[in-house]
Amino acid sequence: MLFGGRRACGAALAVKASVANSGRAGARPSSDLRAYGCSPAPRPLPRSFFSLLLATLLLAACASAPRVEPLKPAAAPVDSASDEAGLIMQMDRYEAELAHSPAVVRDPALNRYLKTLTCEVAGDYCPEIRVYLIRQPYFNAQMAPNGLLIIWTGLLLRVEDEAQLAAVIGHEVGHYVERHSLARWRKLKSTSNLALALQVLGGGGLIGAAASLGAYSGLFAFSRDQEREADDYGLKRLRELGYDDRRVGALWAEVWEEERMRDRELLSSILATHPASAERRNRLTEAAQGHSERRDSERYWAAIEPQRALWLEDEIGRRHYSQSQVLMARLRALPQASAESAYFTAEMYRRRGQAGDLERARDIYQQAIAAGDAPASSWRGLGLVLRQLDQPDAARAAWREYLKRAPDAEDRAMIESWL
Ligand SMILES: [Zn+2]
Repeated sequence: MLFGGRRACGAALAVKASVANSGRAGARPSSDLRAYGCSPAPRPLPRSFFSLLLATLLLAACASAPRVEPLKPAAAPVDSASDEAGLIMQMDRYEAELAHSPAVVRDPALNRYLKTLTCEVAGDYCPEIRVYLIRQPYFNAQMAPNGLLIIWTGLLLRVEDEAQLAAVIGHEVGHYVERHSLARWRKLKSTSNLALALQVLGGGGLIGAAASLGAYSGLFAFSRDQEREADDYGLKRLRELGYDDRRVGALWAEVWEEERMRDRELLSSILATHPASAERRNRLTEAAQGHSERRDSERYWAAIEPQRALWLEDEIGRRHYSQSQVLMARLRALPQASAESAYFTAEMYRRRGQAGDLERARDIYQQAIAAGDAPASSWRGLGLVLRQLDQPDAARAAWREYLKRAPDAEDRAMIESWL
């Protein structure tokens, strides 16, 4: 069943929805995604999300703002006359569209793994939360108030073990349990952000000018207090489950190193905004007690291994080379999949093509090959850089080896024409 999470009871809602949402019967206002880094999802958002968000903002503007209490497991359905019911129904609608999106990664084994881990971390809230893996090459995860948890593939590429992933999931569950979305909406309605939001959303949707994207990110940003609260919740769950809590600070240290290299000129950087910071890294590092060594990195790597090459390809394809350099250096230093990481590092340098990059790429292709389990494409890439470095004989030898190792290569005819 698609929606196992929080429900809003229906009747009164349908009336308000039809007013606020120009006649889409049963459609309900509301929306809101909580990002691990407090950022909105870029491309995979279905279109109706924005019109419904507008409706929700309007509805929220009329709502009262009582204090938001944490959610209890298996809580009763939300009062249908409340703004929270609107948020939940909107997100149910969004989820129904998302479920059919080509951006959702369908790999059954990986999804089973994520679901099992999420259930463990969510504990009593497990039946209310559904996890979707989205193919997006950025460090991000999001939690909606209806129990929809979205994890981006770029996050899985950056996480090194199960302890770190459990911390991320615990953080998101924290947002859910503390009902941060609702608190955020209620705050927004009383500020100038509401007018800004209406302006942005009324202007034809999210994917537009950089200014709109920036405004949207700001609109959905959680407060620092909410982020700390979610971090603490994640840390608490991590300890209760017996994982090594030092892995959380380590993760944020790594993300922060990458974040500092942000390519500001790229639009996608705005979308991927999240509050990685030295303060967050320090706080989580200092909070660690180190009572356990449990990381479960083997199980984590076994789960991601079949998909990982694709995510590395996506990482390089986004062309944020200064960030990718930091990430790839870290991944290459890990004991797992070192030849694969080396191969994609070489690919990154070859494609960037700045001064010295061809030589770097050549050396790293050769290191990947020497490691013993390099992808066949390593010889292809090596041939390409050797040709550019004016070593045609060595280039041809590399391509011959490539074709020997990948006899069914799609580019076989082209490579043969170079021999
Ligand atoms: Zn967060």
